Amino acid sequence: MKYFLALFFSCSAMGLMAQAPHPHTHDRSIHFPDINSGGMAGYRTLVCDFHQHTVFSDGSVWPDIRVQEAVRDSLDAISLTEHLEYQPHKDDLPHPDRNRSNAIAQQAAKAHDLIVVNGSEITREMPPGHNNALFITDANKLVVDDPYKAFEAAQQQGAFVFWNHPNWVAQTKDGIAKLTDMHRQLIAKKQLHGIEVVNESTYSDEALQIALDNGLTLMGTSDIHGLIDWQFRIAEGGHRPVTLVFAKERSAEAIKEALFDRRTAVWFDNMLIAREREMMPLLAASIKVEKAGYIGPSSVCEVLLRNDSDAEFILFNTSEYTLHEHGELLVLNPNGTTKIQVKTREQLPLFNLSFDVLNCVTAPKRHPQLQLSVKLP
Ligand code: ZN
Repeated sequence: MKYFLALFFSCSAMGLMAQAPHPHTHDRSIHFPDINSGGMAGYRTLVCDFHQHTVFSDGSVWPDIRVQEAVRDSLDAISLTEHLEYQPHKDDLPHPDRNRSNAIAQQAAKAHDLIVVNGSEITREMPPGHNNALFITDANKLVVDDPYKAFEAAQQQGAFVFWNHPNWVAQTKDGIAKLTDMHRQLIAKKQLHGIEVVNESTYSDEALQIALDNGLTLMGTSDIHGLIDWQFRIAEGGHRPVTLVFAKERSAEAIKEALFDRRTAVWFDNMLIAREREMMPLLAASIKVEKAGYIGPSSVCEVLLRNDSDAEFILFNTSEYTLHEHGELLVLNPNGTTKIQVKTREQLPLFNLSFDVLNCVTAPKRHPQLQLSVKLP
């Protein structure tokens, strides 16, 4: 009976909590706010994964599963970038048309609000290694012996091309991304436009530096072959790496324009990677002072910081004020608020806070500085 009562009580307590999010239910949708500041006013933030595989090359699933995974993650756009030259399932699944994978995905995506971009992976030894061509019109025309001809064919179709996993140990033993003469030539001929700074479970500081030095678009992708849920432990709170594209509108054309203009950020393992131009408006849109007020007659100000993004921002306090309930570090809850108490020594009508955002980088080992202005009512 005692057991029964205890059980009954805990059930009713859970009933009361039904309004609040269940602590064990992970909201897997990937969310970052649109940006609207600096020179970046009025851009939609679109969540994209432009490097994925299915049975049409060396992946293990049918294309409609990629669509369903993307819908569950609330992605805006995907591309199924099958290896053109590596076709391990072709004895079982002969498919002379290399556009089939994306065509099936586009059909499956019709029931959903998902953009499927036609793309393919040009799969070569180093150099040039593996490269994805997006927004192609006919993948079959990229199946040629000479790698230079493959890049030319992609360019003729107006493709956006990025270098995949330049840090891949199978092609770069030390895991250090290095630009080759061939890549320099492709960049000079405007046949290579972006580079993965994140691929699957890896991040490359060196690729970020190559992107900054050569004006390449920053890309982050899942390069999924199996299942997103298993690879990125979605049930445990994980997320796939994605490219955030800052586009004028939610369309394939607008995404393409944004990619060529390098308006991206990469979201990987609770880390954001972006140029300053994109990082600062993204931080400004994500983190805001929601409320502030002094505690009674004291000079300790309670400030409620709102974080409208999936990032659990890790802040290092560089303000002239110390915090009452935190040390130098504080963590901002994703999609929620975090309370801090600031010791301003006297009651002020207005003061500034500044933080280094440690889980964001704008260059190797460089963290953006967040400035928040706190106005008292
Ligand atoms: Zn790949």
